[in-house]
Amino acid sequence: MELWRDKIRKIEPYVPGEQPEGKDIIKLNTNESPYPPSPMVKKAIEEYNCENLRLYPSFVCKGLKAVLMDTYNVSQDEIFLGNGSDEVLALSFMTFFNSDRAVLFPDITYSFYDVWCSLYSIPYRRIPLDNSFRIVKEDYFGENGGVVIANPNAPTGIYMGLESIEEIIENNRDCIVIIDEAYIDFGGRSAAELIHKYDNFVVVQTYSKSRALAGIRVGYAMADKKLIEAMETVKNSFNSYTLNSLSQIIAEASAKDREYFNKCCGNIISTRKWTVDRLSELGFDTLPSSANFIFTTNKSIDAKTLFEYLREQNIIVRYFNKPRIDQYLRITIGTREQMEKLIEALRRY
Ligand SMILES: *Cc1c(COP(=O)(O)O)cnc(C)c1O
Repeated sequence: MELWRDKIRKIEPYVPGEQPEGKDIIKLNTNESPYPPSPMVKKAIEEYNCENLRLYPSFVCKGLKAVLMDTYNVSQDEIFLGNGSDEVLALSFMTFFNSDRAVLFPDITYSFYDVWCSLYSIPYRRIPLDNSFRIVKEDYFGENGGVVIANPNAPTGIYMGLESIEEIIENNRDCIVIIDEAYIDFGGRSAAELIHKYDNFVVVQTYSKSRALAGIRVGYAMADKKLIEAMETVKNSFNSYTLNSLSQIIAEASAKDREYFNKCCGNIISTRKWTVDRLSELGFDTLPSSANFIFTTNKSIDAKTLFEYLREQNIIVRYFNKPRIDQYLRITIGTREQMEKLIEALRRY
């Protein structure tokens, strides 16, 4: 008999996309980059002095912060670094969402948001996207305990302009608005500049998608320094050394290679267009994407059946068995060759 059973926490966790072991698999299910990280990363690892691993990592993370400061025109005390943006987001929920009022986010969005709310007992309300899967900004005005929006949104890929973001922030000056910009580098404009204008605004980004570094787990938030300070106090009450030494070195080396970064993002954007056009010829309707994935549906083919067929062809995409989106597939943009194989498989079907 498990006498301890009713004393332990029960929670419905976030379910990440699978990470298959097989070799010949075309993996288009978790929005990783199909390209390797910058060659500068390899060089930085080779030159790294392993002796350093004896010590705890720097928690100032000076080198990495310096490139971010330069890229986004922010100062050192306006940046918070963490072990993947999932951790940064989890810590921001813990830090900023502390009222009895509901935190608002779309009904169709990153499915980690409601998990963190449950974990921290934060009340929340899901606001339906409109019929074309767009965010209706006015729905986020008025009393609430905070707002979190992924922009571009996931899994729709739809981007909302900065003017709308700014209106949402302006109409919520008594709470914190978080914009999760995991996919911002594939066609959107970052809202980072707004952190100097509004002290109730947090923007979160990651190295996992556009930087091709999901494996090192680096993410960051940018906000007014009072908000960053609040996040630091929460982090230091949990785990002071979240960002390991090697990840810092690798992220810094990658951030410095802007040319390679722009080239990879550009390739993905053009492959995205190519894929959407081919899908359209095959009768698919695809939402307008500003991300490194597309969300697509076909009136005459059941999405789950198609998902399973592709799996048999060793092509893994993402299927969500959820209301409103159970006839859609989310497909990560891979290399041009990978997308040609996908289209070929769909043609055969
Ligand atoms: C991938 C993703 C993240 C998390 O990325 P990390 O790998 O933890 O940095 C956060 N938000 C959204 C919307 C994502 O798709």
